[in-house]
Amino acid sequence: MLLEVQDLKKHFPVRGGGLVRAVDGVSFAVDAGQTFALVGESGCGKTTIARLLLLLEKPTGGAIRFDGQDVLRLNRQGVQGYRRQVQAVFQDPSSSLNPRLKVRMLLAEPLLAHGFGGDRAALQHRLLELLEIVGLPPGALELYPHEFSGGQRQRIAVARALALQPKLIVLDEPTSALDVSIRAQIVNLLSDIQRSFGLAYVVIAHDLALVEHFSSAVGVMYLGAMAESGPSDAVFGAPRHPYTQALLGSAPRPDPDHQPAEGLIVGEIGSALAPPSGCRFHPRCPHAMPVCAQQAPAMLAMGGRDAGLAHLAACHLLGGGQATASAARWHEVATMP
Ligand code: SF4
Repeated sequence: MLLEVQDLKKHFPVRGGGLVRAVDGVSFAVDAGQTFALVGESGCGKTTIARLLLLLEKPTGGAIRFDGQDVLRLNRQGVQGYRRQVQAVFQDPSSSLNPRLKVRMLLAEPLLAHGFGGDRAALQHRLLELLEIVGLPPGALELYPHEFSGGQRQRIAVARALALQPKLIVLDEPTSALDVSIRAQIVNLLSDIQRSFGLAYVVIAHDLALVEHFSSAVGVMYLGAMAESGPSDAVFGAPRHPYTQALLGSAPRPDPDHQPAEGLIVGEIGSALAPPSGCRFHPRCPHAMPVCAQQAPAMLAMGGRDAGLAHLAACHLLGGGQATASAARWHEVATMP
Protein backbone atom coordinates (compact mmCIF):
# COMPACT_ATOMS: atom_id res chain seq x y z
CA MET A 1 0.00 0.00 0.00
CA LEU A 2 1.21 3.49 -0.77
CA LEU A 3 -0.66 5.16 2.08
CA GLU A 4 -1.90 3.50 5.25
CA VAL A 5 -3.82 5.44 7.85
CA GLN A 6 -4.35 3.59 11.12
CA ASP A 7 -6.58 4.64 13.99
CA LEU A 8 -5.96 8.31 13.21
CA LYS A 9 -7.20 10.79 15.82
CA LYS A 10 -7.35 14.55 16.04
CA HIS A 11 -8.86 16.06 19.17
CA PHE A 12 -8.97 19.83 19.61
CA PRO A 13 -9.05 21.12 23.18
CA VAL A 14 -11.68 23.78 23.74
CA ARG A 15 -11.48 26.75 26.04
CA GLY A 16 -13.37 25.97 29.19
CA GLY A 17 -12.58 22.27 28.98
CA GLY A 18 -13.53 19.36 26.79
CA LEU A 19 -12.30 18.05 23.48
CA VAL A 20 -13.67 18.29 19.97
CA ARG A 21 -13.11 14.81 18.62
CA ALA A 22 -12.91 15.87 14.97
CA VAL A 23 -11.28 12.60 13.90
CA ASP A 24 -11.60 9.70 16.28
CA GLY A 25 -9.95 6.50 15.16
CA VAL A 26 -10.11 6.42 11.36
CA SER A 27 -8.30 3.79 9.26
CA PHE A 28 -7.99 3.36 5.52
CA ALA A 29 -5.41 2.56 2.86
CA VAL A 30 -4.72 3.69 -0.70
CA ASP A 31 -2.60 1.89 -3.24
CA ALA A 32 -0.61 3.49 -6.06
CA GLY A 33 -2.80 4.47 -8.99
CA GLN A 34 -6.00 4.21 -6.93
CA THR A 35 -8.51 6.76 -5.69
CA PHE A 36 -9.89 6.65 -2.17
CA ALA A 37 -12.81 8.98 -1.50
CA LEU A 38 -13.91 10.22 1.89
CA VAL A 39 -17.55 11.24 2.03
CA GLY A 40 -19.95 12.44 4.70
CA GLU A 41 -21.84 15.50 5.82
CA SER A 42 -20.11 18.75 6.83
CA GLY A 43 -18.59 18.30 10.25
CA CYS A 44 -17.85 14.59 9.82
CA GLY A 45 -14.08 15.18 9.98
CA LYS A 46 -13.09 14.53 6.38
CA THR A 47 -11.40 17.90 5.86
CA THR A 48 -9.45 17.45 9.10
CA ILE A 49 -8.16 14.16 7.69
CA ALA A 50 -6.97 16.00 4.58
CA ARG A 51 -5.12 18.50 6.80
CA LEU A 52 -3.57 15.66 8.83
CA LEU A 53 -2.36 13.92 5.66
CA LEU A 54 -0.81 17.19 4.46
CA LEU A 55 0.87 17.68 7.85
CA LEU A 56 -1.00 20.95 8.35
CA GLU A 57 -2.22 19.53 11.66
CA LYS A 58 -0.50 17.19 14.09
CA PRO A 59 -2.51 14.07 14.92
CA THR A 60 -3.48 13.34 18.52
CA GLY A 61 -2.91 9.64 17.90
CA GLY A 62 -2.65 6.92 15.31
CA ALA A 63 -0.26 6.37 12.44
CA ILE A 64 0.25 7.48 8.86
CA ARG A 65 2.54 5.27 6.79
CA PHE A 66 3.59 6.39 3.31
CA ASP A 67 5.68 4.25 1.03
CA GLY A 68 6.70 2.13 4.01
CA GLN A 69 7.75 5.08 6.17
CA ASP A 70 6.23 6.23 9.44
CA VAL A 71 5.34 9.79 8.45
CA LEU A 72 4.84 11.02 12.01
CA ARG A 73 8.41 10.07 12.94
CA LEU A 74 10.17 11.62 9.97
CA ASN A 75 12.98 14.11 10.57
CA ARG A 76 12.98 17.52 8.86
CA GLN A 77 14.51 16.20 5.69
CA GLY A 78 12.07 13.31 5.64
CA VAL A 79 9.13 15.69 6.05
CA GLN A 80 10.39 17.74 3.10
CA GLY A 81 10.58 14.58 1.00
CA TYR A 82 7.05 13.59 2.08
CA ARG A 83 5.73 17.05 1.18
CA ARG A 84 7.26 16.70 -2.25
CA GLN A 85 5.49 13.42 -2.82
CA VAL A 86 2.12 14.36 -1.35
CA GLN A 87 0.54 17.40 -2.94
CA ALA A 88 -2.89 19.02 -2.68
CA VAL A 89 -5.57 20.62 -4.81
CA PHE A 90 -8.14 22.64 -2.89
CA GLN A 91 -11.73 23.50 -3.54
CA ASP A 92 -11.37 27.10 -4.61
CA PRO A 93 -8.47 27.87 -6.96
CA SER A 94 -9.20 31.61 -6.57
CA SER A 95 -7.98 31.48 -3.00
CA SER A 96 -5.34 28.75 -3.35
CA LEU A 97 -3.43 30.56 -6.15
CA ASN A 98 -1.58 33.77 -5.27
CA PRO A 99 -3.34 36.44 -7.40
CA ARG A 100 -0.17 38.56 -7.62
CA LEU A 101 1.88 35.87 -9.35
CA LYS A 102 1.83 34.99 -13.02
CA VAL A 103 1.29 31.35 -13.86
CA ARG A 104 4.99 31.12 -14.73
CA MET A 105 5.90 31.85 -11.11
CA LEU A 106 3.02 29.84 -9.64
CA LEU A 107 4.33 26.74 -11.40
CA ALA A 108 8.04 27.49 -10.92
CA GLU A 109 7.70 28.23 -7.19
CA PRO A 110 7.40 24.63 -5.94
CA LEU A 111 10.17 23.50 -8.30
CA LEU A 112 12.57 26.19 -7.09
CA ALA A 113 11.62 25.70 -3.44
CA HIS A 114 12.54 22.03 -3.72
CA GLY A 115 15.84 22.66 -5.50
CA PHE A 116 15.05 22.16 -9.19
CA GLY A 117 18.42 21.21 -10.62
CA GLY A 118 18.09 22.34 -14.25
CA ASP A 119 18.98 25.61 -16.00
CA ARG A 120 16.52 28.23 -17.34
CA ALA A 121 15.84 26.26 -20.49
CA ALA A 122 15.10 23.11 -18.50
CA LEU A 123 12.77 25.06 -16.21
CA GLN A 124 10.94 26.58 -19.18
CA HIS A 125 10.61 23.13 -20.72
CA ARG A 126 9.12 21.74 -17.50
CA LEU A 127 6.66 24.62 -17.18
CA LEU A 128 5.42 24.14 -20.75
CA GLU A 129 5.18 20.40 -20.14
CA LEU A 130 2.98 21.02 -17.08
CA LEU A 131 0.68 23.32 -19.07
CA GLU A 132 0.37 20.73 -21.80
CA ILE A 133 -0.55 18.01 -19.30
CA VAL A 134 -3.46 20.10 -17.98
CA GLY A 135 -4.54 21.32 -21.42
CA LEU A 136 -3.52 24.99 -21.26
CA PRO A 137 -1.66 26.86 -24.03
CA PRO A 138 1.97 28.07 -23.61
CA GLY A 139 0.77 31.71 -23.49
CA ALA A 140 -0.86 30.96 -20.11
CA LEU A 141 2.56 31.35 -18.47
CA GLU A 142 2.42 35.14 -18.82
CA LEU A 143 -1.09 35.59 -17.39
CA TYR A 144 -2.41 36.09 -13.85
CA PRO A 145 -4.97 33.75 -12.25
CA HIS A 146 -7.82 36.27 -12.59
CA GLU A 147 -7.41 36.18 -16.38
CA PHE A 148 -8.68 32.59 -16.46
CA SER A 149 -12.09 30.97 -15.98
CA GLY A 150 -12.75 28.91 -12.83
CA GLY A 151 -12.11 25.63 -14.65
CA GLN A 152 -8.84 26.93 -16.13
CA ARG A 153 -7.73 28.13 -12.68
CA GLN A 154 -8.33 24.64 -11.32
CA ARG A 155 -6.19 23.29 -14.18
CA ILE A 156 -3.40 25.63 -13.04
CA ALA A 157 -3.81 24.33 -9.47
CA VAL A 158 -3.54 20.76 -10.80
CA ALA A 159 -0.42 21.67 -12.81
CA ARG A 160 1.15 23.20 -9.69
CA ALA A 161 0.36 20.05 -7.72
CA LEU A 162 2.01 17.96 -10.45
CA ALA A 163 5.16 20.09 -10.65
CA LEU A 164 7.16 17.93 -8.24
CA GLN A 165 5.95 14.62 -9.69
CA PRO A 166 4.15 13.51 -6.52
CA LYS A 167 2.91 9.99 -5.85
CA LEU A 168 -0.28 11.12 -4.10
CA ILE A 169 -2.55 14.14 -4.43
CA VAL A 170 -5.13 15.08 -1.80
CA LEU A 171 -8.09 16.59 -3.65
CA ASP A 172 -10.27 18.56 -1.26
CA GLU A 173 -13.66 19.10 -2.95
CA PRO A 174 -11.85 19.63 -6.28
CA THR A 175 -14.95 20.43 -8.33
CA SER A 176 -17.49 21.88 -5.91
CA ALA A 177 -16.57 25.54 -6.63
CA LEU A 178 -16.95 24.99 -10.39
CA ASP A 179 -19.91 25.25 -12.76
CA VAL A 180 -21.63 21.93 -13.25
CA SER A 181 -20.70 22.01 -16.95
CA ILE A 182 -16.99 22.26 -16.09
CA ARG A 183 -16.91 19.59 -13.37
CA ALA A 184 -16.86 16.65 -15.76
CA GLN A 185 -13.91 18.18 -17.63
CA ILE A 186 -11.85 18.45 -14.46
CA VAL A 187 -12.79 14.92 -13.37
CA ASN A 188 -11.79 13.58 -16.79
CA LEU A 189 -8.53 15.51 -16.63
CA LEU A 190 -7.75 14.09 -13.18
CA SER A 191 -8.58 10.57 -14.40
CA ASP A 192 -6.32 10.94 -17.45
CA ILE A 193 -3.47 12.26 -15.30
CA GLN A 194 -3.91 9.39 -12.87
CA ARG A 195 -3.70 6.84 -15.68
CA SER A 196 -0.67 8.52 -17.25
CA PHE A 197 1.38 8.88 -14.08
CA GLY A 198 0.07 6.11 -11.80
CA LEU A 199 -0.91 8.69 -9.21
CA ALA A 200 -2.94 7.93 -6.12
CA TYR A 201 -5.69 10.31 -5.02
CA VAL A 202 -7.43 10.88 -1.72
CA VAL A 203 -10.60 12.77 -2.62
CA ILE A 204 -12.63 14.64 -0.04
CA ALA A 205 -16.08 15.19 -1.48
CA HIS A 206 -19.73 15.53 -0.69
CA ASP A 207 -20.76 15.04 -4.32
CA LEU A 208 -21.62 11.34 -4.32
CA ALA A 209 -22.12 11.22 -8.10
CA LEU A 210 -18.52 12.41 -8.52
CA VAL A 211 -17.23 9.89 -5.99
CA GLU A 212 -19.11 6.96 -7.52
CA HIS A 213 -17.70 7.76 -10.95
CA PHE A 214 -14.21 8.62 -9.87
CA SER A 215 -13.12 6.49 -6.89
CA SER A 216 -11.95 2.91 -6.61
CA ALA A 217 -12.66 2.81 -2.87
CA VAL A 218 -14.73 4.91 -0.54
CA GLY A 219 -14.97 5.65 3.17
CA VAL A 220 -18.22 7.01 4.61
CA MET A 221 -17.55 9.08 7.71
CA TYR A 222 -19.94 10.06 10.43
CA LEU A 223 -18.98 12.37 13.28
CA GLY A 224 -15.26 11.65 13.24
CA ALA A 225 -15.47 7.90 12.68
CA MET A 226 -15.75 5.58 9.71
CA ALA A 227 -19.24 4.12 9.33
CA GLU A 228 -18.52 2.05 6.23
CA SER A 229 -15.67 1.59 3.79
CA GLY A 230 -14.69 -0.63 0.92
CA PRO A 231 -14.49 -0.91 -2.86
CA SER A 232 -16.74 1.73 -4.44
CA ASP A 233 -18.69 -0.89 -6.40
CA ALA A 234 -19.55 -2.72 -3.18
CA VAL A 235 -20.39 0.36 -1.09
CA PHE A 236 -22.43 2.07 -3.81
CA GLY A 237 -23.92 -1.17 -5.12
CA ALA A 238 -24.90 -2.69 -1.79
CA PRO A 239 -24.47 -0.19 1.06
CA ARG A 240 -24.78 -1.95 4.42
CA HIS A 241 -24.69 0.80 7.02
CA PRO A 242 -27.98 2.67 7.60
CA TYR A 243 -26.14 6.00 7.33
CA THR A 244 -24.63 5.11 3.95
CA GLN A 245 -28.03 3.94 2.76
CA ALA A 246 -29.61 7.19 3.89
CA LEU A 247 -26.85 9.28 2.32
CA LEU A 248 -27.10 7.48 -1.01
CA GLY A 249 -30.89 7.36 -0.89
CA SER A 250 -31.19 11.12 -0.47
CA ALA A 251 -28.48 12.11 -2.96
CA PRO A 252 -29.65 13.76 -6.18
CA ARG A 253 -28.70 11.80 -9.27
CA PRO A 254 -28.45 12.80 -12.93
CA ASP A 255 -31.31 10.46 -13.77
CA PRO A 256 -34.70 11.97 -14.65
CA ASP A 257 -36.48 8.90 -13.21
CA HIS A 258 -34.60 8.93 -9.89
CA GLN A 259 -36.65 10.18 -6.98
CA PRO A 260 -34.51 11.09 -3.97
CA ALA A 261 -35.77 9.12 -0.99
CA GLU A 262 -37.21 11.25 1.77
CA GLY A 263 -37.38 10.76 5.49
CA LEU A 264 -34.46 8.35 5.65
CA ILE A 265 -32.22 10.67 7.60
CA VAL A 266 -33.49 13.17 10.11
CA GLY A 267 -31.97 15.90 12.26
CA GLU A 268 -28.50 17.37 12.24
CA ILE A 269 -25.15 15.69 12.61
CA GLY A 270 -24.30 15.70 16.34
CA SER A 271 -21.53 17.59 18.09
CA ALA A 272 -17.96 16.30 18.00
CA LEU A 273 -17.56 17.98 21.40
CA ALA A 274 -20.02 15.58 22.98
CA PRO A 275 -20.60 12.74 20.50
CA PRO A 276 -23.53 10.44 21.24
CA SER A 277 -22.69 7.34 23.26
CA GLY A 278 -22.44 3.95 21.59
CA CYS A 279 -23.10 4.25 17.87
CA ARG A 280 -22.74 7.95 17.07
CA PHE A 281 -25.49 7.71 14.48
CA HIS A 282 -28.07 6.33 16.91
CA PRO A 283 -30.03 9.58 17.55
CA ARG A 284 -30.79 9.76 13.81
CA CYS A 285 -30.95 6.10 12.89
CA PRO A 286 -34.37 4.72 11.98
CA HIS A 287 -33.21 1.25 13.07
CA ALA A 288 -31.68 2.12 16.45
CA MET A 289 -31.98 -0.49 19.19
CA PRO A 290 -31.27 -0.11 22.92
CA VAL A 291 -27.77 -1.56 22.46
CA CYS A 292 -26.93 1.16 19.93
CA ALA A 293 -26.86 3.87 22.60
CA GLN A 294 -24.74 1.73 24.93
CA GLN A 295 -22.10 0.07 22.82
CA ALA A 296 -20.07 1.30 19.86
CA PRO A 297 -20.37 -1.23 17.02
CA ALA A 298 -17.18 -2.84 15.76
CA MET A 299 -16.05 -2.49 12.16
CA LEU A 300 -16.91 -5.85 10.57
CA ALA A 301 -16.06 -7.39 7.22
CA MET A 302 -19.12 -7.75 5.00
CA GLY A 303 -17.66 -10.58 2.98
CA GLY A 304 -16.16 -10.32 -0.47
CA ARG A 305 -12.93 -8.60 -1.32
CA ASP A 306 -11.93 -6.55 -4.28
CA ALA A 307 -8.18 -6.31 -4.93
CA GLY A 308 -7.51 -7.13 -1.30
CA LEU A 309 -9.79 -4.38 -0.03
CA ALA A 310 -12.47 -5.51 2.39
CA HIS A 311 -15.98 -4.08 2.56
CA LEU A 312 -16.39 -3.02 6.19
CA ALA A 313 -19.25 -1.52 8.14
CA ALA A 314 -19.85 -0.69 11.79
CA CYS A 315 -23.44 -1.42 12.77
CA HIS A 316 -25.01 -3.72 15.35
CA LEU A 317 -27.47 -4.91 12.72
CA LEU A 318 -24.72 -6.42 10.65
CA GLY A 319 -22.90 -8.80 12.92
CA GLY A 320 -21.83 -9.80 16.40
CA GLY A 321 -24.07 -10.99 19.21
CA GLN A 322 -26.60 -8.23 18.80
CA ALA A 323 -27.32 -8.99 15.19
CA THR A 324 -28.71 -12.46 15.83
CA ALA A 325 -31.49 -10.97 17.96
CA SER A 326 -32.46 -8.61 15.19
CA ALA A 327 -32.53 -10.69 12.05
CA ALA A 328 -35.80 -9.10 10.98
CA ARG A 329 -34.28 -5.65 11.28
CA TRP A 330 -31.17 -6.80 9.42
CA HIS A 331 -33.37 -7.99 6.59
CA GLU A 332 -35.22 -4.70 6.68
CA VAL A 333 -31.98 -2.76 6.29
CA ALA A 334 -30.41 -5.09 3.77
CA THR A 335 -33.43 -4.83 1.51
CA MET A 336 -33.95 -1.10 1.81
CA PRO A 337 -34.38 0.45 -1.64
FE1 SF4 B 1 -28.34 2.33 13.57
FE2 SF4 B 1 -27.66 0.89 15.69
FE3 SF4 B 1 -26.57 0.39 13.34
FE4 SF4 B 1 -25.95 2.59 14.66
S1 SF4 B 1 -25.50 0.48 15.29
S2 SF4 B 1 -26.38 2.43 12.51
S3 SF4 B 1 -27.89 3.11 15.59
S4 SF4 B 1 -28.72 0.16 13.89
